[in-house]
Amino acid sequence: MLRLRRFNALPSIAMRTCTILARHLALTTRPTPFFGVLRPTYWHRRLATASARASASAAALKTQPSSQIPPPAVVSDDLPMISMDAQKVAIGWDTRTWSRFHNVWLRDHCRCPQCFHQITKQRLVNTFEIPPGIMPSKVEQTADGLLVSWPSSEPHESLYPWSWLQENSYDPKISKAREPPPEKVLWSSKIQTSPPTIGYDEAMAEDNRGLYKWLSHVDRFGMCFISGVPPTPEATEELSRRIAFIRETQYGQFWDFTSDLAKGDTAYTTLALGAHTDNTYFTDPCGLQIFHLLSHTEGSGGATLLVDGFYVASILKELHPDAYSILAHTPVPAHAAGELSALYRPYPPSGYPVLSHDPTTGELIQVRWNNDDRSVMNNLDPYQVEEWYNAIRTWHKLLTSADSEYWVQLTPGTAVVIDNHRVLHGRSAFTGKRRMCGAYIGVDEYRSKLAVLRERFGPNPKSDRSVWSPAL
Ligand SMILES: [Zn+2]
Repeated sequence: MLRLRRFNALPSIAMRTCTILARHLALTTRPTPFFGVLRPTYWHRRLATASARASASAAALKTQPSSQIPPPAVVSDDLPMISMDAQKVAIGWDTRTWSRFHNVWLRDHCRCPQCFHQITKQRLVNTFEIPPGIMPSKVEQTADGLLVSWPSSEPHESLYPWSWLQENSYDPKISKAREPPPEKVLWSSKIQTSPPTIGYDEAMAEDNRGLYKWLSHVDRFGMCFISGVPPTPEATEELSRRIAFIRETQYGQFWDFTSDLAKGDTAYTTLALGAHTDNTYFTDPCGLQIFHLLSHTEGSGGATLLVDGFYVASILKELHPDAYSILAHTPVPAHAAGELSALYRPYPPSGYPVLSHDPTTGELIQVRWNNDDRSVMNNLDPYQVEEWYNAIRTWHKLLTSADSEYWVQLTPGTAVVIDNHRVLHGRSAFTGKRRMCGAYIGVDEYRSKLAVLRERFGPNPKSDRSVWSPAL
């Protein structure tokens, strides 16, 4: 059963009962908030269960046991126990929790100024000069961490902070020692009552706090509206560049377009577009996209459709684990070929699955779906063909259910940014003249900006980036 948690920031909404989701999940009378909050550990367990049930998990899982009891923080008058042998150093955080580190691993991860550049944060130690059988001559507990003296043939001293050793413990993994990633909030159509929104002035404020709030919304919800944006391409471009430089594609850098078929893509028509992600034909689809409707005259229609792909995937996984597994494993080829000057296909050309997962945690990390841009499915085994069509039929049905579809009529002054690796978008057909502008931003630029802002404004703000940062 989906583990759902109340979303505290929106108590009035979170308390509402989502009858459709309840029906989906075959729940009976228990009130269920429409926001589901999932952590990677949830996916890990879910995938392990699905694997046992369907003997086909959605991701390659590591089955290393992890300690669920967090080790105590180390205090100077109660230092951990330590021991070593020819292979490893063992650290006892308490009588029950031990971490073991291979000697060669410790030597390779020394972060002293000779072994690790303190400014560039790059490795200086020559990994390949470390003797394979290296063993410390001495290990000591100090208030600052584990002090390792290496043998006289390789004289060196290394000091590893206790907290860093806990965070990076791999034998066993100590999951709670690591800072958990912020929770993702999965949403259905009911998000329309209170969609994540930030004001333009706040997003543009120089102290970057508003920018952090904005990108944190995008990280948690996969989208965020920005209200009060001057309805001009210039202001929208400036807003986009608050996040990062714009990713140029065959559609240009910053786009400002109407339904004139200026580019060979249905986006440049008045046709309805079903929920899809962009750039399924790229090896690395753009991370974020920003839309801003600048004007719509002499007509109507053209509502914007947003669907949380992670929410729909969670329902698919719950109700149709076999279909989920097929979407997680079957590569789908795609192309962009509407202009003779370009012929885009992902590399490898066999494409990528609709649902991609982190191979170490099993967490769903990306949705790629555009049925219109799909190429010939010539890599299916004959016995898979009908199963595959059944799986995408089920996926399509859930994607297009009233419960999943969040329809919103954009108006000049309100821009929206969406995570193209998670949230699908579309629109209804329209008449008249519509002028839309927007931009793509690369996923790495977006994540880098968010990580930098999190270092500064997140739960454990740091004034400087240490060589012991958990990200390095
Ligand atoms: Zn060193």
